[in-house]
Amino acid sequence: MQNLSEEEGEAIGVVGQVLPFKANNYVVEQLIDWNNVPKDPIYTLTFPRKEMLTKANYKEIKRLIDSNDEAGLKQKVYDVRMSLNPNPAGQETNVPMVDGIKLHGMQHKYRETVLFFPSQGQTCHAYCTFCFRWPQFSGMNELKFAMKEADLLHRYLLKHRGVTDVLFTGGDPLTAKTSIMARYIEPLLTKEFDHIKNIRIGSKTLSYWPYRFITDKDADDLMVLFEKVKKAGKHLAFQAHFNHPVELSTDAVKKAISRIQNTGAQIRTQSPLLRHINDDHKVWAEMWKEQVAQGLIPYYMFVARDTGSKEFFDVPLEKAWNIFRKAYRSVSGIARTVRGPSMSANPGKVQILGVNEVQGEKVFVLRFIQCRNPDLIDIPFFAKYDKKATWLDELVPAFGEKEFFYEKDNLMDKNGRDSDFIWE
Ligand SMILES: *Cc1c(COP(=O)(O)O)cnc(C)c1O
Ligand code: SF4
Repeated sequence: MQNLSEEEGEAIGVVGQVLPFKANNYVVEQLIDWNNVPKDPIYTLTFPRKEMLTKANYKEIKRLIDSNDEAGLKQKVYDVRMSLNPNPAGQETNVPMVDGIKLHGMQHKYRETVLFFPSQGQTCHAYCTFCFRWPQFSGMNELKFAMKEADLLHRYLLKHRGVTDVLFTGGDPLTAKTSIMARYIEPLLTKEFDHIKNIRIGSKTLSYWPYRFITDKDADDLMVLFEKVKKAGKHLAFQAHFNHPVELSTDAVKKAISRIQNTGAQIRTQSPLLRHINDDHKVWAEMWKEQVAQGLIPYYMFVARDTGSKEFFDVPLEKAWNIFRKAYRSVSGIARTVRGPSMSANPGKVQILGVNEVQGEKVFVLRFIQCRNPDLIDIPFFAKYDKKATWLDELVPAFGEKEFFYEKDNLMDKNGRDSDFIWE
């Protein structure tokens, strides 16, 4: 970290009070170009920067640190965190129940897929500065989704035969030991769980700690576990988070990717679009091309969530669409498996199909790629064009309408599909 200036060092101390901060030697030595700091994309992804807080909050937190006012600092940090919308898109809703017990380590929002947050995977190998899961890492326990009991997951799945996918997420579930993951996954390979076809693991470990798959003590065991999934006739879908092409460039990550592929698992990729990190269509095109070259399947481009240092990272929706389409049209068809830009909002995942003019009015054309109410998926709908909008809640319906189509006639509530509804 030879090139860190005094100001950058100070920013880590001040901003790091609010946003949890963690890096490791792989990220520091192999991913960050220290000649390009603080602009370097991976530096920006992992190290707190001054601009991630408002000027006023930065100044006040620095003052409280300098004056050793511990109580004042604690209160201020709490207030700032609460003002950063620590729990976007109703993550506290969609919490399912089994036998009268609320399952806080699970979410069941979309019919086919249950999210599961293993309690041992509530951390990551390094922390992303943009991350919306930061309350889970910073001791804000009331918002922590964690569940110790594999048993409750399995009981829930046995009762919900319409579920085909279990998506392990976190934090990063691959911070948990292989033996823990095996306890969750192996029972799902038995006949009782015929209906579960896809075991999905959402992980940033390929980017932040590829040694998890090659040289860590239980790396081989993890590969054996992946093989077992395949042998049981199920699909292991690895959903890898890559934010920048540099994360695909090291020998370690390449080796890790091919080891995973040798187990029969498939790797799909996703990333949010982030200003200061990857807000350039050339970066995305390069990333998708390199992914395809290594046998990965580009899957999602997300719009950065409305949480944390959103103002530092956000990209207006129109710009997001322009970056997406310029990248999309510059790659061949096999990289166009990617969908986006997509907002994971309360009613569902909303894709920005583009900006166009309909009967003289400039509009955003949108569609659900996931929705609480599956009947509403893939129906184009329209919002009034807004150059500055960065999220769904800033948009209003086009053509002077009062509501979006999904807000009419309680469509989200129909058949009980309100925010607390849990699928049969
Ligand atoms: C994105 C997401 C999923 C998975 O959606 P896919 O489109 O199947 O990848 C499942 N549950 C929640 C809550 C999600 O946000
Ligand atoms: S790896 Fe994922 S969960 Fe962990 S800090 Fe980054 S975005 Fe958040």
